[in-house]
Amino acid sequence: MAVTKAVSETGWNLDNSYARLPATFYTILRPTPVRSPQLVMLNAVLAEFLGLNPVALKEKEGVEVLAGNRIAEGSMPLAQAYAGHQFGHFTMLGDGRAHLLGEQITPRGERYDIQLKGSGKTPYSRHGDGRAALGPMLREYIVSEAMYALGIPTTRSLAVVTTGEPVYRETELPGAVLTRVAASHLRVGTFQYVSKWDTDNLRVLADYTIERHFPDGLNTENRYLFLLQEVIRRQAALIAKWQLVGFVHGVMNTDNMALSGETIDYGPCAFMDSYDPATVFSSIDVYGRYAYGNQPVVAQWNLARFAETLLPLLHSDELQAVRLAQQAVSGFTDLYRSNWLAGMRAKLGIFDEEAEDESLAQSLLDLMRRHRADYTNTFLALTFDNPQYSSLSGTPEFAKWQERWQARLCRQRETRAAREQLMKKNNPALIPRNHRVEEALEAAVQREDVSVMERLLAALADPYAHSPGQVEYAAPPPPSACRYRTFCGT
Ligand code: AMP
Ligand code: MG
Repeated sequence: MAVTKAVSETGWNLDNSYARLPATFYTILRPTPVRSPQLVMLNAVLAEFLGLNPVALKEKEGVEVLAGNRIAEGSMPLAQAYAGHQFGHFTMLGDGRAHLLGEQITPRGERYDIQLKGSGKTPYSRHGDGRAALGPMLREYIVSEAMYALGIPTTRSLAVVTTGEPVYRETELPGAVLTRVAASHLRVGTFQYVSKWDTDNLRVLADYTIERHFPDGLNTENRYLFLLQEVIRRQAALIAKWQLVGFVHGVMNTDNMALSGETIDYGPCAFMDSYDPATVFSSIDVYGRYAYGNQPVVAQWNLARFAETLLPLLHSDELQAVRLAQQAVSGFTDLYRSNWLAGMRAKLGIFDEEAEDESLAQSLLDLMRRHRADYTNTFLALTFDNPQYSSLSGTPEFAKWQERWQARLCRQRETRAAREQLMKKNNPALIPRNHRVEEALEAAVQREDVSVMERLLAALADPYAHSPGQVEYAAPPPPSACRYRTFCGT
């Protein structure tokens, strides 16, 4: 993937490798200009990481690029085609309100997709208006940056600009464009789309994906099997990380599963307060398909859909291909479990391995569920030996569980100080609590005051610091708070 572009003053250094793929994969198309772009949020640290100059990005021309009104040097905007199983039903989709501007090559030579979201209609918009509202774009900004700080692979947010145009949802809302940064926007759904055409195109897409994300596979005997196994491995690691922090994605359709292993598409997502595997926030997820406790199962289902698309490449003999695919997909279960268990051990301050560790963790979770204890804060109570954090403290069952846990800790060689360090690194001081996110969005959208959001972002930026300023953000919502609901199609 050679790069020839000169670096501009803003630092845009864009390549367009996706635009060199077969034309059926996308539509070359410019964003639709907006009336009066205004910068609301700029992620200066991320800008610099990408080799961009934050000062130049804040100037009129810089903001115009982030709004889709101006095309950066070297950019060839396009909307990607893809398909997807939405709540189990197969649909042809594509970027209905997003434009890939190109791939920024960082000063270290890494490649990141730069995508505008809310930047106008495309041939894939179906009945949508191609636009996005300010609140949901700021929400994606907050939650994606929080996930990054938690150490969870994710797309990131570079900027949010308002458009000066209203969007109409249930009410009239200010319109906005988010600039999303991703290792790539290749999804399970991209393979589902291309596999509907022919095997030659599928091979091109698979080779491109391997070259971009899994270059070690290029020299293996069966690079397509390597691709499948690596995607599965990364998803197993990713979903385990979600579970360990209590993140509910909310819309795990196959078009929202990135092959890079990043969390993508922050729509109806939210973090769980009190522990319950049945937790669902999305208003449209009536059957709980994407409930917290179902996420590993759904991930495996999505990976099976991915494996199906690869069958013609896996082996010339169809039966052999199916066997290889099945073997790889069923491997997800153990991969997920070992990732999750390793993470749970760290959350509990356990360094070595004993057969009973899983049941120790599971009994704690069962207690949390029965007592509706706060997930994040129960681990803080254990980390700091501070009963105030958890409603579980004081119950006889918890005291009994703690005895079992203490006995387990005594059987390892590490000091108490080392155990505390491990727990502090694995139990965040805070998560983006829904009521705090809403409070920040309300200030930004209703009162044009982004200071509340900035303070929240600052607290979320280092969740393992356990600094005094983070304590106020650790409180769960007041008991009077209504059940939190999130919405799609925002
Ligand atoms: P999502 O739920 O964000 O994964 O979106 C599913 C599909 O709907 C994708 O094809 C999106 O591009 C499309 N979409 C969502 N909102 C809009 C909108 N306002 N206008 C056009 N397309 C949209
Ligand atoms: Mg999506």
